[in-house]
Amino acid sequence: MSHTETHAFQTEVNQLLKLMIHALYSNKEIFLRELVSNASDALDKLRFESVSNDALSEGESDLAIEVGFDKEARTVSIIDNGIGMTRDEVIENIGTIANSGTKKFLENMTGDQAKDSHLIGQFGVGFYASFIVADKVTLTTRKAGDEKSEGTRWESTGEGEYTLETVEKEVKGTEITLHLKEDMDEFLDDFRLKNIVTTYSDHINFPIKMWQVKLDEEGKETEEKTLEQVNKATAIWTQPKSELSDEDYNNFYQTISHDYENPLAHMHNKVEGTLEYTSLLYLPKKAPFDLYDRDRRYGLKLYVKRVFIMDDAEHLMPTYLRFVRGVIDSNDLPLNVSREILQSNRVVDKIRSASVKRVLDQLAKLAKAEDQSDYETFWDQFGNVMKEGVIEDFANKDKIANLLRFSSTHDSSGPTQRVSLQNYIDRMGEDQEAIYYITADTYAAATGSPHLEMFRKKGIEVLLLTDRIDEWLVSHLTEFEGKQLKSVTSADLKEFDEEAEKDLSEEDKKAREALTEKVKKAIEDQVSDVKITLRLTDSPACVVSAEGDISAHMARMMEQMGQAMPKQNPVLELNPEHALVKKLDSLEDESKIKEWSLFLLEQAQLAEGDQLEKPADFIKRMNVLLSEVI
Ligand code: ADP
Repeated sequence: MSHTETHAFQTEVNQLLKLMIHALYSNKEIFLRELVSNASDALDKLRFESVSNDALSEGESDLAIEVGFDKEARTVSIIDNGIGMTRDEVIENIGTIANSGTKKFLENMTGDQAKDSHLIGQFGVGFYASFIVADKVTLTTRKAGDEKSEGTRWESTGEGEYTLETVEKEVKGTEITLHLKEDMDEFLDDFRLKNIVTTYSDHINFPIKMWQVKLDEEGKETEEKTLEQVNKATAIWTQPKSELSDEDYNNFYQTISHDYENPLAHMHNKVEGTLEYTSLLYLPKKAPFDLYDRDRRYGLKLYVKRVFIMDDAEHLMPTYLRFVRGVIDSNDLPLNVSREILQSNRVVDKIRSASVKRVLDQLAKLAKAEDQSDYETFWDQFGNVMKEGVIEDFANKDKIANLLRFSSTHDSSGPTQRVSLQNYIDRMGEDQEAIYYITADTYAAATGSPHLEMFRKKGIEVLLLTDRIDEWLVSHLTEFEGKQLKSVTSADLKEFDEEAEKDLSEEDKKAREALTEKVKKAIEDQVSDVKITLRLTDSPACVVSAEGDISAHMARMMEQMGQAMPKQNPVLELNPEHALVKKLDSLEDESKIKEWSLFLLEQAQLAEGDQLEKPADFIKRMNVLLSEVI
């Protein structure tokens, strides 16, 4: 017996729908591309699953998509005889947004549609695009292999609720009927629909058919109608490059990625010989909102001899290249290949390393191009992910290192990351030994660090590393082109200390030793050592990590991630030329020495972006010292 149930959408779905309708209004015909793409996926899945379970095909061998319209009822429909969905699958796929990152994504929304509309670019479009043109959508579906009486009808006006009903459905697969909004009559037109299909879906692997009215000998319409195929239905990647336009490539990208922008670049390669496969890979322009979500799906589709095998074939690309979208079609894998087999398969390994090489070569090409705008777009979106590559992909470390971009003291464009390691080397002084960098939480903290003072004075470039991953990056990338990468906060900058010390008299040296001993004694439990530094010019003091300790910035990050860190006392470095240090040097009273020493230590820690354990004590101390000079 059929009964109708009403369900509420997840609140997120409502928000997303509103946003989508607003953002994509000027691009509204893409609803058809999205639904055809889903239908094609459903046919792919059926074809794949019927390899091992013939019953699923229900005796029907012609897999196809049908697009039609009804002028009177003002509906457009998209019908497939693919895998279909069970009732539970409908609830899961159509009423919810399963992805765990979605909530977070939606939290970013401001509620101002104009402002939010750019966010949709980070989000796949999909089935909900129906509601751009329709004010009611009916989806009737039956899972292949299920009883005919087990069909499900889903219906919604896209406003908070949907209804579910169990219905009889003769043919397996899914039929979607869009009840068009008032001003959407343009889609009740043969020519218009056909045109959209050939524009966006020409290279869908399955025939897309439309009803055509038969004309009589005089060219007049007859009662008779026939189904005619309107697309090429040849997988795009099997076509020779010479026959494909950028537009063909772009449209196919949008079909598989649900992205409504064009990709940044595509790579199409046919490999013949001991291994035979074709790959069509794309670099997107925009990072998806869930790029850092662990559950995120991967972008590559695997085909074997033109038969779709699986989505999200994560073994075809390393994690750091997870943003690459596209298709790999192999002639050497068995049709019944499983994820487990892919994990340790020689053919897959070879395809993977060749594909990685293609992507890195393409990136190198963009990075070297006269016009840097594409590479800059890429880096701003995916730079942080590429840095993971240095850690993850040892074999390609050097290639990836060449692709890295940083902000730098010698780059006037500010916090954008535009300087390569090669740029740095090309302009560094002949006798400079290392590539210097500083890590900090923010660009402002990096540029304001007292550690840069000497480097500024000497005109030495320092790379400003302010992304979370940078600490890990530099712990794996210790050298580039024979030059060591060195932190300006490292305790070991002997190359500068030796130079500065060589002009000191014995007497000066002794006086300095006495000063450091005095301070060290006063705040012994707070520092691991006290040293004189000649690296500061404007600031009285700075802190560095003791040799062997992890950097203060790294320790802060670990703490933020909930990792308990043992307390590490810093090395306090004093600038002997500074008036405050000279004052400290002149003091005799032990408690005063202690106050001044603590004051210098704490301000140095603050300048590093450290949290003081007792900030109120610091203020008190400072006020006492200030009132002494008033
Ligand atoms: P996406 O296609 O990006 O996953 P959609 O919102 O378009 O997102 O679709 C959600 C899910 O609904 C699909 O992943 C698929 O499982 C299911 N689905 C959509 N359309 C069909 C269809 N025509 N046949 C079978 N399943 C479908």
